[in-house]
Amino acid sequence: MSQSILDNRPALAKEVNDVAEVAGYLWQKGWAERNGGNITVNITDQVDDAIRAMPAIAEPVAIGLTLPNLKGCYFYCKGTNRRMRDLARWPMDNGSIIRILDDCAHYEIIADKNVKPTSELPSHLAVHNYLIGKGSNYKASVHTHPIELVAMSHNPKFLEKDVLTNILWSMIPETKAFCPRGLGIVPYMMPSTNELAEATIKTIDDNYDVVMWEKHGVFSVGENVLEAFDMIDVLVKSAIIYMDAKCMGFEPDGMSQEQMQAISKTFNLPK
Ligand SMILES: [Zn+2]
Repeated sequence: MSQSILDNRPALAKEVNDVAEVAGYLWQKGWAERNGGNITVNITDQVDDAIRAMPAIAEPVAIGLTLPNLKGCYFYCKGTNRRMRDLARWPMDNGSIIRILDDCAHYEIIADKNVKPTSELPSHLAVHNYLIGKGSNYKASVHTHPIELVAMSHNPKFLEKDVLTNILWSMIPETKAFCPRGLGIVPYMMPSTNELAEATIKTIDDNYDVVMWEKHGVFSVGENVLEAFDMIDVLVKSAIIYMDAKCMGFEPDGMSQEQMQAISKTFNLPK
């Protein structure tokens, strides 16, 4: 059997296996058609001297941005044109580990195979650069296409500030408890652009962990990939409850503002 960077490194293997687990959920939930969605995880904490000494297995690639906080950082990245359903089973065949070079403007692939990272890499790395800059302990970012949330983003009324957040929070107490900053909104923009990356960072900076890209999908950040997934999952749960009520022919009451404030107090939530 050929060697893997994950061999004899249980902490790093767990990080990558968690990505594979989440990739499987994204596929099962119908949020990851074809090669849709991206996951990147900052794995620098799991990097040892032997990894730092590993040679690159491909030529350096320009990121297209200079990201000074990423000096010496390492990331696991889903591969471009790869499918979540395949990554779920073979994470090191459908993703790779990259090292950011000292110029903070190039990366190189170090393991296991020459799998070119997602075309969304510059925007994901820009978000990681921002998170490190503000001293955040968030390491993971997930982009996916949750059906019900994307459907709701086609209604302009839901896109006004915190309208959708309040509807979703009010459907079931856990949604506010486990997605306590709610859902930030970024108006429709061309995928893969720096403009979209900048708008995403601005919305995260406005104190959201999950950002809706209008008529496209969501982008979520968290301490680890499971947490980033769970926040999307609880929002989708609420969206389905809302839609089921509408399908039964009535507008759901939702919990009252007082009831939601009581949740914030009890759970010591930020909003
Ligand atoms: Zn997308």
